[in-house]
Amino acid sequence: MDSLSTAEFEESISGTNEVRTCARRKLTSTVWNSFEKITKPNGKVVAICNHCGSSFVGDSGTSNLKNHLKRKHKELVGASDSSLNASTQEFSQEKSRRDLAIMLIKHNYPLSMVDHKYFRIYSHGLNPEFVIHSRNSIRSDIISIYKEEKEKMYSFLESVSSKVTLTTDIWTSDHQNLAYIYSCI
Ligand SMILES: [Zn+2]
Repeated sequence: MDSLSTAEFEESISGTNEVRTCARRKLTSTVWNSFEKITKPNGKVVAICNHCGSSFVGDSGTSNLKNHLKRKHKELVGASDSSLNASTQEFSQEKSRRDLAIMLIKHNYPLSMVDHKYFRIYSHGLNPEFVIHSRNSIRSDIISIYKEEKEKMYSFLESVSSKVTLTTDIWTSDHQNLAYIYSCI
């Protein structure tokens, strides 16, 4: 991405006496097919909509411009402009695999969930590319995350200049018959 497209555009701008000069560098987002970037005499930058002439200050990045297209020029926002569609987010097997492990941890879901038929159907429906690994692979992912988090906790505790007191309490849930440990630093 060129240096003008994000950093300068994200500066806050005010006033309306724009002069259409320079700043015609290559912009990476396809949203710029619908906007013209203009540099004012004072060096500030605004974006002008090619369809209706609305001008935008730059303090919210290109998402502001995309929202304008979606709201005011709905007919122009089609499959041809992929940057305007959230569904084009790049798929990552590794990221999704990690997200799955984090979901199991955070919601205390059973590892067997990855073998559940309808969970697999659901997942496949969202993205057929995602490969759900075996229960053992998910277990090793969870242990890796645990080790990472443990290291982070060690680093954090080492960085604390004061002393640390750890208090714990334990009780059993009547409803689920599960033991809980409560810790407080
Ligand atoms: Zn417009």
